[in-house]
Amino acid sequence: MGYINDLTERLYYHDSYLLNFDATVTSRSADGLRIELDRTAFYPSSGGQPFDTGTLSGIDVVDVLDEDDRITHVLGSPLAPDLQAVAGSVDAAMRLDHMRQHTGQHALSAVLEEEFGLKTVSFHMGADYSTIDVEPLGASAAKLLEIERKVNERLLQNSPVSVAFEHSSTVVGLRKAPDREGLLRVVTIAGLDRSACGGTHVARTGEVGMILLGKTEKVRQSLRLEFFCGGRLLRELHRRFNEAESQTAGLKERLAESDKARKRFSAELAEIAGQQRYAQSPPDAQGRRTWIEEMEVVDEDTRMQANAFLNNEKALVILTGRKGATVMFGAHPSLGLDCGKVFKALVAELGGKGGGSPKQAQGSLPDLESLRLFAEKLKA
Ligand SMILES: [Zn+2]
Repeated sequence: MGYINDLTERLYYHDSYLLNFDATVTSRSADGLRIELDRTAFYPSSGGQPFDTGTLSGIDVVDVLDEDDRITHVLGSPLAPDLQAVAGSVDAAMRLDHMRQHTGQHALSAVLEEEFGLKTVSFHMGADYSTIDVEPLGASAAKLLEIERKVNERLLQNSPVSVAFEHSSTVVGLRKAPDREGLLRVVTIAGLDRSACGGTHVARTGEVGMILLGKTEKVRQSLRLEFFCGGRLLRELHRRFNEAESQTAGLKERLAESDKARKRFSAELAEIAGQQRYAQSPPDAQGRRTWIEEMEVVDEDTRMQANAFLNNEKALVILTGRKGATVMFGAHPSLGLDCGKVFKALVAELGGKGGGSPKQAQGSLPDLESLRLFAEKLKA
């Protein structure tokens, strides 16, 4: 990047907000597709920042090349051969976005170095996100959150960003030693960063908005850090939210399916266990097979087992739960019992509540003592 001897005056060096300009054609290719101007506001691809798009006298600019002392504009269709004066117009949304990303990068790199000793070795501005490579490796997730917080704190201070031309032999306080001699374009974020840079930047850090860190990746000896500034940050947050939402919906669906399957399996298992219990219970003198048990709680699984048990000839079930003093009482019709009726009569006597059908009844007693008495009476 030349400064004094430039054949093309770089208008963006002095004013990043300048989008419309007039210029004179100084050189053109025979096909009229490659144009050089005496001055331009178009930023060429360099220093990790992509070229500006826009138009030259209404013709789309499809590439902008930095050829050291001149800038070449590549057009989508030929410029008329006799046209000497052109009007240039840089795409505003893209330029502003690049200014925000680039200034955000300076702030991020400065905080990484100042607070965490991490040096930025390269920068790339992509269409959706930007990355910087930092060294050495080894920033934890917690550290990254801390870095993100600190950079945002600095951006919100709305510090002025200024540009000055200083000589490499006298310049002081640069974050990174300059890789060239002579006149340098120095971009300063007041109180935070001084860097030699030819890119476009905003005038105050508040215009960057906030910065959001994204994925990290180890690339050779460096850590590659994704980041989003300005409008990109909001887009990225919406993308993450939508992704999380669709993942959650998928998980919910799978959970409901596995819940259904689990319920089906438990019902099948309870059925088998109830039948097995019946088969293994020896019949008494009247041919009854009973399942009488006091347990901590008569849960859903146990109830399902009891129902399977009760589907057999002369089966009788009395299950009491200590928690809540509950009773489940059931009998196969072959025993000629009306469970509901028996239950109701007894429960009235002992001060509990409940009832049911001839086949099955349930309820609760006031306490454990009456529960046990109740069970004894039922057995009789
Ligand atoms: Zn810069």
